[in-house]
Amino acid sequence: MELYYQPKVFAKTKQIIGAEALIRWNHPVHGMISPAEFIPLAEQTGLIKEIGKWVTRTACIQNKIWQNAKLPMIPISINLSATHFLEKDLISNIVQTLKETSLEPKYLEIEITETSLLEEEEIVFSILEELRNLGIKISLDDFGTGYSSLSYLNRFKGKLDILKIDRSFIRDLSSSHEEDSNFIVNMIIQLSHQLKMEVIAEGVETNEQLQVLQKYNCNIIQGYLFSKPITASKFADLLKTSLCEKQD
Ligand code: C2E
Ligand code: CA
Ligand code: CA
Repeated sequence: MELYYQPKVFAKTKQIIGAEALIRWNHPVHGMISPAEFIPLAEQTGLIKEIGKWVTRTACIQNKIWQNAKLPMIPISINLSATHFLEKDLISNIVQTLKETSLEPKYLEIEITETSLLEEEEIVFSILEELRNLGIKISLDDFGTGYSSLSYLNRFKGKLDILKIDRSFIRDLSSSHEEDSNFIVNMIIQLSHQLKMEVIAEGVETNEQLQVLQKYNCNIIQGYLFSKPITASKFADLLKTSLCEKQD
């Protein structure tokens, strides 16, 4: 297992303002296996909790290494699956990992999907509350793909910090004519601003998509246009300049 890192870029200045850690499985026989293939399996077999703990620890250690090397300090987000997010000892494990790695909590962010919010509301509220009290920011990932995204936004108002617009909406953006996707993306961005949440567009691949997003005031961009997920050592090279130029 290995973590790759994909920069989140403030498009106007090309500044790297964060990174998402994404797991890779380099299989001795089958080569690189995509997490889309093995994460669902790990969820079924219960291995996901161990994987999640490893990801948390590895991302914290890596971030601390970069900070000790005097690279620009940025938060790194990890993806937590719903089963792991709802584990009783999640908070104590995270607290312990932060302590052991001496990483300040503000440099760790957590990405969850709506599935994590489906559980009993009281329980979810208290987990979110505890994480936020620690100073850890929470992103709602793949926004817009769940079956009642808007009702969740309302219920969890003030409890989530960042909203990530799903790639499926970004893919269909057009600058020449206003597609349905344009209206939806524009609405999500305005809504996030209204709810005082940061908004990130993920899966941005073209200049055209970037232009539309900037027109709608979405400035934090993640996607192949700036960089694919890369190894820790390549990411360190990128972070040295603190900038990420477009790939075109
Ligand atoms: P995700 O959290 O939505 O992560 C974004 C996915 O989109 C990543 O796929 C990333 O490589 C890909 N991506 C980023 N920019 C672009 C782009 O411009 N174009 C296209 N076509 N794709 C882009 P990846 O790394 O294969 O991960 C797939 C999913 O697997 C993730 O979706 C996440 O749900 C899950 N995953 C990855 N790492 C972990 C992990 O450590 N723990 C857990 N629980 N799930 C993980
Ligand atoms: Ca994610
Ligand atoms: Ca996503």
